[in-house]
Amino acid sequence: MTKYKGATIWFTGLSGSGKTTIAIALESMLVERYNRVYRLDSDNIRLGISKDLGFSERDRRENVRRVGEITKFFSEAGFIVLSSIISPYRAHRNEVRNLHESSNLKFIEVFVDCSLSEAEKRDPKRLYEKARKGEIKHFTGIDDPYEPPEKPDIHLKTDMSTLEEEIAIVIEYFEYHQIICASRLDED
Ligand code: ADP
Repeated sequence: MTKYKGATIWFTGLSGSGKTTIAIALESMLVERYNRVYRLDSDNIRLGISKDLGFSERDRRENVRRVGEITKFFSEAGFIVLSSIISPYRAHRNEVRNLHESSNLKFIEVFVDCSLSEAEKRDPKRLYEKARKGEIKHFTGIDDPYEPPEKPDIHLKTDMSTLEEEIAIVIEYFEYHQIICASRLDED
């Protein structure tokens, strides 16, 4: 079954930038074409394996490390793993990249780039509203930093493109880099 090796697709960006929306849309598309896909996001991580962690730099680093170890296991098992967590610090993301690449596993960093003003306007979970009122502390973009990737493998500008355009960019990258095949696997 494992004609293709797994890969970790790491979506990083501000809250509300579109990481989860893009990962969900990709997940259903990939399930049609590739039967091993697993999606992780803050909601399932922060309620479970990282429920003991907060949002200090140290805790964020530990959260990213744990998610990185999980994505490594799944990608080793041949899954395409879609991970959407803010992961605001460049150094932490680079640690996860090194973890994968030192085991010969593909790590694709996708910068889900959206201006703070647009993300705040969308505010799908009303978190910016709460952060502005001081009800949430250490909120990325408000009172906590976000360090954009310097050389992301894929750069999506979600305040300038549609979801369909973003998915097309990612799928084209996957096909070009042979992460997925251009046609359905079962046609071989
Ligand atoms: P994140 O996971 O980054 O916190 P979400 O995916 O939960 O962000 O929320 C992004 C919101 O922005 C959703 O309500 C989505 O419908 C909306 N949105 C508007 N335009 C786009 C776009 N071009 N790409 C992705 N999401 C978009």
